[in-house]
Amino acid sequence: MNDAGSHVASDDIAAIREAVRALCAGFPGEYWRELDRARAYPTRFVQALTEAGFLAALIPEEFGGSGLTMRAATAIMEEIQASGCNGAACHAQMYIMGTVLRHGSAAQKARWLPGIASGELRLQAFGVTEPTSGTDTLSLRTTAVRDGDAYVVNGQKIWTSRAEHSDLMLLLARTTPREQAASRTAGLSVFLVDMRAAKGLTIRPIRTLMNHATTEVFFDDMVVPAENLIGEEGKGFRYILAGMNAERILIGAECIGDAKWFIEKASAYGKERVVFGRPIGQNQGVQFPIARAYAQMRAAELMVHEAAALYEAGRECGAEANMAKLLAADASWAAADMCVQTFGGFGFAEDFDIERKLRETRLYQVAPISTNLILSYLAEHTLGLPRSY
Ligand SMILES: Cc1cc2nc3c(=O)[nH]c(=O)nc-3n(C[C@H](O)[C@H](O)[C@H](O)COP(=O)(O)OP(=O)(O)OC[C@H]3O[C@@H](n4cnc5c(N)ncnc54)[C@H](O)[C@@H]3O)c2cc1C
Repeated sequence: MNDAGSHVASDDIAAIREAVRALCAGFPGEYWRELDRARAYPTRFVQALTEAGFLAALIPEEFGGSGLTMRAATAIMEEIQASGCNGAACHAQMYIMGTVLRHGSAAQKARWLPGIASGELRLQAFGVTEPTSGTDTLSLRTTAVRDGDAYVVNGQKIWTSRAEHSDLMLLLARTTPREQAASRTAGLSVFLVDMRAAKGLTIRPIRTLMNHATTEVFFDDMVVPAENLIGEEGKGFRYILAGMNAERILIGAECIGDAKWFIEKASAYGKERVVFGRPIGQNQGVQFPIARAYAQMRAAELMVHEAAALYEAGRECGAEANMAKLLAADASWAAADMCVQTFGGFGFAEDFDIERKLRETRLYQVAPISTNLILSYLAEHTLGLPRSY
């Protein structure tokens, strides 16, 4: 359960949506296209969202955050995407801190959260995935070995997004060798690494299909003070899992925003583009795919709302958060494909932003968790089928 209050009424959420839309209007297609070509980070956009308090939505007011609900946070992420912007540049600032909030000591919360809330401390990097273990997180090989009042970290992460644009990284590392751990899931620990001060840390950018500021990170005897261990040693996997519902719900909301953007573009174009003497949208062959994408988006949106409401009420929402992310990612990808088809050749032209948004939304079939793994979760945990991996 998050600690944020549940005091945001629906009309406040409407005001939040309007405020996000107004901010995003200052970052039109040309801004994103230029960054996309240069594979550059949208620093100005992230700063604007930070200053407006949107990225601190889920941090309680006592720590300087906005103290908003999960429903408000989903509205923020959805509106960013629906405006044609790219929240992937900064969405992690919203949810990574949840691990510190839920499992950190009072001293850690007081030390870190106000800076994260103000944006003075950027907590954008989440170091879980490794090249050899992939989705099998429990096989990760990065080690953190206790040495007096510090831990010494060695190993490698991959796809650590925004590491070059973050001050802190939430790192998952093995503190007890797998064969000596008390259980299958024990022996991993979570650290808040201050990358500004870290020695033995190398970050290398990875160019990807879309502009995503992702990297690989190498740890070579990197020293992390023991006071940066979050919660108890060995329980890190549980802490990371606890944060995943929020991540899935928020990314589901981003996908809904993307789907809305594609549907809006296609509907407008269907009315305005005239071929064979009539608007293309007058043909059922063109309008039915738009209508189908809309229906698919609305169904997924309901699941995002249900997951957010359960999360806010402090109720179990693993299945709903996973389904929200699965259905929303499917809806955004279907809408992207439909939009390209509706635009014909112009769907491929950079100036229309459709090909950029299509590349950006494709990620959510794979990250932060792939579609197959969500289906495995549902099969096992909801339907009681045998565990498949
Ligand atoms: C642009 C980008 C940004 C990312 N950002 C971050 C980040 O900030 N931090 C971070 O820690 N990670 C990040 N990731 C990593 C992301 O979470 C993983 O890529 C994702 O979880 C899939 O893991 P993998 O790439 O290792 O695929 P693998 O685990 O190698 O799997 C490959 C394929 O096989 C399928 N598969 C594997 N096992 C099974 C099974 N048992 N049953 C069925 N199918 C299976 C998977 O679904 C996948 O399609 C990012 C990835 C990308 C591409």
